[in-house]
Amino acid sequence: MLERFPRVKLAHLPTPLEALDRLSEELGGPRLWVKRDDCTGLATGGNKTRKLEFALAEAIENGADTIITAGAVQSNHVRQTAAAAARAGLACSVVLEQVFPTPGKAYRDSGNVLLDRLFGAGLHECPAGTNLDEAMQALAAETAAAGGKPWVVPVGASSATGALGYVNAALELLDQAAAMDLVIDQIVTATGSGGTQAGLLVGLRAAGSDLPVLGIGVGSPQAEQVAKVAAVADETAEFLGRPGLVTAADVVVDCGYVGGGYGQPTAAMNDALLMAARLEGLLLDPVYTGKALAGLIDRVRQGGFGDAANVVFLHTGGSPALFAYADQLTT
Ligand SMILES: *Cc1c(COP(=O)(O)O)cnc(C)c1O
Repeated sequence: MLERFPRVKLAHLPTPLEALDRLSEELGGPRLWVKRDDCTGLATGGNKTRKLEFALAEAIENGADTIITAGAVQSNHVRQTAAAAARAGLACSVVLEQVFPTPGKAYRDSGNVLLDRLFGAGLHECPAGTNLDEAMQALAAETAAAGGKPWVVPVGASSATGALGYVNAALELLDQAAAMDLVIDQIVTATGSGGTQAGLLVGLRAAGSDLPVLGIGVGSPQAEQVAKVAAVADETAEFLGRPGLVTAADVVVDCGYVGGGYGQPTAAMNDALLMAARLEGLLLDPVYTGKALAGLIDRVRQGGFGDAANVVFLHTGGSPALFAYADQLTT
């Protein structure tokens, strides 16, 4: 299905699929599993690495020498893009949205920002609410004016090209489950720019699987998040030559666990972080996977997965942000 698309090898694949036995026992619901996309290998791992295998290949095919992208200050996408660019011998110039008015020192300088600097990325801060697409275009124009060949990778690499990484992940997961004689009833993932959930849905439906994917939102309001995922899913299906593969009914999102906003800690996120750490020795992150697991835990407690026997939590990475949130987490 994916052979005809250019791809650079960046990720350690397949990522493991592991049982979360102590967490499952504690919660008393379905058997919980974790798909370890925090272990994709590049620059401490995470979901963007799968997308960048396709997004960077597209940039290279187009003769780019400089990757332009954007994200919040503590963006995991920016960190993985900076590392991928370094590895491909490309320059990397990024727009970082200062999402908090008065960030602490750890948030400004530690976690992902420290790693962005190690990878040699050029960092350009902009205030909250900046149009990031326009800011990336401006940076691209600047790069071109200086004789460079810029290529813009959108926020979260959530283009049809980037989402192919999660089409691939869906096929990988189906193979893994089949080899283990495991019947998965439900996938749960954090959803932000939408490419992860969209790619999963396209990959599953293309493979003839009707497995449901629940996206737990981390910032946008419900209707906006649904629209984001649906738009990337439509584009990706079309790109694959399978238009209309994902229906409106397939796009299931719950934005009830965001709390105060993107990147703002919640008590349920903190609890989920501690449960994963203390029951499973598993590190989550405060912005995405902590809130997503909080949603999963709440749903298990409410009986929200019905008679599902096996639920897979997609771990999308992000643990470097723990250090940026050191003074905002209760341990
Ligand atoms: C980017 C990111 C997500 C969200 O993935 P999208 O494809 O943007 O929806 C989830 N978890 C982590 C840790 C991320 O960095």
